[in-house]
Amino acid sequence: MSTIFSQIVEGEIPARIVYEDETTVAFLDANPLAPGHTLVIPKDEYERVNDVPADVATDLYATIHRMVPAVEDAVDADATTVAFNNGEAAGQEVPHVHCHIVPRFEDDDAGPIHAMFGQRPELDDDELDEIADDIESRA
Ligand code: AMP
Repeated sequence: MSTIFSQIVEGEIPARIVYEDETTVAFLDANPLAPGHTLVIPKDEYERVNDVPADVATDLYATIHRMVPAVEDAVDADATTVAFNNGEAAGQEVPHVHCHIVPRFEDDDAGPIHAMFGQRPELDDDELDEIADDIESRA
């Protein structure tokens, strides 16, 4: 079964497409968090950021790079939150990788992405060193 976003790519369901090239598409989010909320996707179906092949990731970033100023200018935004919900536990509902470009305004009170988290973990230097070493060894 193809994802709802693949159905948009195939033209099977309507969407407000604002940009399209050979490998990527950008369209308005159907349930926007702010006016101009735009999603950028690869046309091919990959679930998570890390599933996207490097060449497609390059194209995806190029489209994000192109669309951020287009969205900001169109709705006269002061800034944008640019984010991926990468995996179900992170709130990803559509299993087709997508970048949210959400226009932000000085007085929108939505806060930074840090606001999603309540208490932060207390990590001592040894724990931080261990985590850093572990990530570095996998990078
Ligand atoms: P996420 O929770 O990161 O998977 O976000 C999925 C996003 O897709 C939500 O912001 C939805 O409003 C949006 N969405 C779902 N269906 C459609 C659709 N048919 N057209 C445009 N946006 C959609």
